[in-house]
Amino acid sequence: MSDFALLNEAKPKARKPHKCIWCGEQIPVGEQYLFQSIRWDGTAMNQHWHFECADAQQEEGRERGDWEFSPYDNERPARAALKRAQGGETA
Ligand SMILES: [Zn+2]
Repeated sequence: MSDFALLNEAKPKARKPHKCIWCGEQIPVGEQYLFQSIRWDGTAMNQHWHFECADAQQEEGRERGDWEFSPYDNERPARAALKRAQGGETA
């Protein structure tokens, strides 16, 4: 069983470009993103997310009951889908 802990979470604006841990696309300077500092199997690491990618990961994890994923190797969801998800009730 994997040891996972969320150590810190923030929503800063990028002061330098980051690579999204989910889709591998760039988070450009000036764009707000989700920053997470986590511990995974005893290793601390920082993750940078597009908000829509963080949502996609949550959804996939719930569906599969498994929160592991391959970094930089997932599809970035459309922003339209994110807006719909935020505006509506949770299914
Ligand atoms: Zn992304």
